Amino acid sequence: MLQVLFLDMARGQQKIQSQQKNAKKQAGQKKKQGHDQKAAAKAALIYTCTVCRTQMPDPKTFKQHFESKHPKTPLPPELADVQA
Ligand SMILES: [Zn+2]
Repeated sequence: MLQVLFLDMARGQQKIQSQQKNAKKQAGQKKKQGHDQKAAAKAALIYTCTVCRTQMPDPKTFKQHFESKHPKTPLPPELADVQA
């Protein structure tokens, strides 16, 4: 009788441990995904307009934006060579 009880406890303990392990694993995956999305978003929007702070994915878009929205503002030096 006692032995059976002990076995049940051991089994229950194992179950809890594996549940904790799974939860940890899932949390880790979630964290990793969040990080990847953040990194991807950061990589996709690397050009920030110096005038209005609009973010753009590439220098071409940035230059077109700059020329149409801020024609009176001198072009930033990093856009001078960009072919729009
Ligand atoms: Zn702008």
